[in-house]
Amino acid sequence: MKIIGSIPEVKAILRPLQAQGLRIGLVPTMGALHAGHLSLVREAKKHAEVIVASIFVNPKQFGPSEDLTRYPRDLEGDAKKLEGEGVGVLFAPAAEVMYPEGHQTGVSIGRVSRGLCGDHRPGHFDGVATVVLELFSIVRPDVAVFGEKDFQQLAVLRALARDLHLDVRIAGAPLVREADGLAMSSRNVYLSPDDRTRALSISAGLFAAKTAYDAGERAAETLLGLVRGHLSASGLVPEYLELRRFEDLAPLDRADAPSVLLTAVRVGSTRLIDNLILRRP
Ligand code: AMP
Repeated sequence: MKIIGSIPEVKAILRPLQAQGLRIGLVPTMGALHAGHLSLVREAKKHAEVIVASIFVNPKQFGPSEDLTRYPRDLEGDAKKLEGEGVGVLFAPAAEVMYPEGHQTGVSIGRVSRGLCGDHRPGHFDGVATVVLELFSIVRPDVAVFGEKDFQQLAVLRALARDLHLDVRIAGAPLVREADGLAMSSRNVYLSPDDRTRALSISAGLFAAKTAYDAGERAAETLLGLVRGHLSASGLVPEYLELRRFEDLAPLDRADAPSVLLTAVRVGSTRLIDNLILRRP
C-alpha cells in the first residue's frame, strides 16, 4: 500500500490505472479506524479493482467549539489496518494541501442539510461536501462508499453527486455496532466507563422501538417514546430524536413508508449519533 500526502503524486498513480480501465473505489475517513470503516473498504471491493482510502481530519466540518484538536489520530495503526484489507493507496494529506493559502471555494447544500445534525452543527455538511468534492476531483473514483452510521451525511453526498452531475456512484454501507449494541465511532474513546454504560441506552432504546415496529406499532410518538424512555432511565436527553422517511429524510408522524429513527445524544462531553432503519425501500 502506498501512503501519499501530495495531490500530484496520487493523481500520477491513479490516472494510468484508470486509463487501463481499472475501476477506483474511494473510502473517505477521518482515521482512528474501527471495524465500521473497514466494512466500507470491503463494500468498495465489490465495485472496484483499486481501493483508495483517505484519512483527513477536515477542519471545515468542525465548529469552533468542537473537538478538532483532540480528535483521535493514529496514522500508523490505521495504515496497518487498511493494508490488511487490501487497500492500494492511502491518501493522507495535510490541511495545507487540501486548503492552501487562497483557498476560497466551498459547496453549499440545501434542504437535506437542514434539521437533525444540520441544526446543531452549523456549516458542518457544507464542510463535508466541500472536502468530499475535492477528494472526488483528485481521485476521480467510480464508486465512493459511506456509512449509514452518518445517515444524513449520506443523503447530503447523494444530493451533491446528483445535483452536480458527478460521475461517481455513491454507495451506502450498513451501520456496524459493538457486540453490546453501541454504534462504532472513533469518538467512543472519549467515553468514561460510566458514560459508555449510559450510552448503551441509545441502541437499547432504538432496538426497543424496532421490536415495537416489528409487532405492528407505527405511530412516531409511541416509537420515539420508547427510545426516550431508555435514554431518560440513563439520565440522557437527546439533542434530537426523530422519525424520518428513508429516501429524503422528510419528517414522518407514522412509520408507514420506509423510514429510519435518528438521534444525537450528548453523553458527558461526547456527542454520539445513532440511527436504526425500520424498513428499507
Ligand atoms: P469518520 O471517520 O467517522 O468520518 O467516518 C468515515 C466513514 O465511515 C463515514 O462514511 C462513516 O459513515 C463511516 N462509519 C463511521 N462509523 C461507522 C459505523 N459504525 N458503521 C458503518 N460506517 C461507519
